[in-house]
Amino acid sequence: MNRVNLLDFDLPGLVAFFESIGEKPFRARQVLQWLHQRGADDFEQMTDLAKSLRIRLPEVAEIRPPVLGHEQCSSDGTRKWLLEVGPNNRVETVFIPEDDRGTLCVSSQVGCALDCAFCSTGKQGFNRNLSAAEIIGQLWWANKALQRDPLHASGNKGERIISNVVLMGMGEPLLNFDNTVAAVSLMLDDHAYGLSRRRVTISTSGIVPAMDRLREKLPVALAVSLHAPNDALRDQLVPVNRKYPLKELMAACKRYVVDGPRDFITFEYVMLDGVNDQLEHVEQLLHLTRDISCKFNLIPFNPFPNSGFKRSPAERVRKFAYQLMDAGKVATTRKTRGDDIDAACGQLAGQVEDKSKRTQKFILERTVMAA
Ligand code: SAH
Ligand code: SF4
Repeated sequence: MNRVNLLDFDLPGLVAFFESIGEKPFRARQVLQWLHQRGADDFEQMTDLAKSLRIRLPEVAEIRPPVLGHEQCSSDGTRKWLLEVGPNNRVETVFIPEDDRGTLCVSSQVGCALDCAFCSTGKQGFNRNLSAAEIIGQLWWANKALQRDPLHASGNKGERIISNVVLMGMGEPLLNFDNTVAAVSLMLDDHAYGLSRRRVTISTSGIVPAMDRLREKLPVALAVSLHAPNDALRDQLVPVNRKYPLKELMAACKRYVVDGPRDFITFEYVMLDGVNDQLEHVEQLLHLTRDISCKFNLIPFNPFPNSGFKRSPAERVRKFAYQLMDAGKVATTRKTRGDDIDAACGQLAGQVEDKSKRTQKFILERTVMAA
């Protein structure tokens, strides 16, 4: 018989599971606390469950986190864990300590099908969605590792070590909607990690219908990877723009702000030398977002081999930020962390067995175009 993995369940899922085996719903809350607050990985540890239940549970259920590969620590305190998620497939999760918070950057898919021009994950192609257990398993492992070794955790004293989670690792979270929502629901649940909705951020390249579903189902903080102020350029940099162009994306952002836990959207904007970092782009950006409550987060491009792009010079990034601020917008520039362990945005590589056959597709398209 197939045993269910209890790490796949959020609270409603676990309640349904216990009901299905004839147990009281309150067991779900007890077990959730054991799993996520105390990091239990064995039913025998759950001492407040009846002995008979502890014996029965392993027959129908298991606790199966992703397999932990190696860990790397950066000189700036950033830590990165590699997780094995099946043969030839690995994803990465990164912890970034800062003075006032500790942020875990979580992956949602093995690879990504959206193929943004400047993204190393996108260049690897797509294999599969992570399960809810594999998404929450990243927080589960990081929590354990940081509790064991809190000295290097963060300056965030007295607070929980992981105070914020961002779904900005590998993959497009809104194309793995149900599993992402189940994992996020555990991040928020007081019986699990108890984070506030404002401290869990989903980053999306702009999957408009899923943004609306998220708003209705589980609104958390939202970051939208904008990267270009007009459709012609965004079609090139973020190809999913051809499906959900800027007009639709901006309308979805406006709808989201109404129900979201924050009264603004964060627009991420990767600064690519000579591509999207000129004065005309600032002007177009201001016009595009003129009636949207938003903040800008400028990300210095993190290079990887054969990307074909260069990072904008620091002076240009500074000027770009000032031009936005002069027009009354809030603009921050992301500090690049964990450079020495390739842990920065868009550098997470893991290992992807490409089921999308991107390379072949690319060669085919080139051949057809050349013919
Ligand atoms: N798929 C989602 C979330 C993962 S990517 C999304 O695209 O939003 C997280 C962020 O890193 C996105 O804003 C993405 O555009 C950015 N990013 C990707 N590659 C990058 C690179 N090489 N340098 C800097 N930022 C990058
Ligand atoms: Fe996928 Fe995000 Fe990378 Fe684009 S930037 S390829 S959506 S992970």
